[in-house]
Amino acid sequence: MDKLPAHLEKILNVTERGDTFMSGQVVCECGCKTFGIRYFGEGYPPHCIGVNEYGGKYALIVKAVCCGCGKEHLLFDFAKHGYDGFINEDGVSVPDEELVDAAAGDERDFEVKMSIEFDDEEQFVEEIVNEPPEGMSFAPDDRMNIWSWVVIDLKCAKSGKELNGFVDSELA
Ligand SMILES: [Zn+2]
Repeated sequence: MDKLPAHLEKILNVTERGDTFMSGQVVCECGCKTFGIRYFGEGYPPHCIGVNEYGGKYALIVKAVCCGCGKEHLLFDFAKHGYDGFINEDGVSVPDEELVDAAAGDERDFEVKMSIEFDDEEQFVEEIVNEPPEGMSFAPDDRMNIWSWVVIDLKCAKSGKELNGFVDSELA
């Protein structure tokens, strides 16, 4: 199966994948590979950012705004794609005005790589599809949308400086 997480289907150029992981580069539908990064989390680049408290729950959101066409793409929202954030409902989405721009010195344009881990199919079907949390229902393919780990690496478009592990979070 060549399924991708639903919200990354058109923008993740997968270069490596296995049964429980995939990684690749974010490329806009317009072909552009550089983005401004907007995020909500605890910590500041070049250090790793993690979940931050918001409204009594936890939030971590990363969005990429294309430098070519200006389109905004959601890359990760702990409340929607994090196992604990979504399944255990520990997560909350925050409004756009809470997001800030990632900067490394005076650089704000980045290339973006993502690595994602999720359950294997058997475990997901047994634990989530067959016994979903109350009020939820899932199909086997949904496992790609509910992650146990996410890594987002940034590379400065101008200097080539790498901010590896901008996000490097265990989610389950
Ligand atoms: Zn674009």
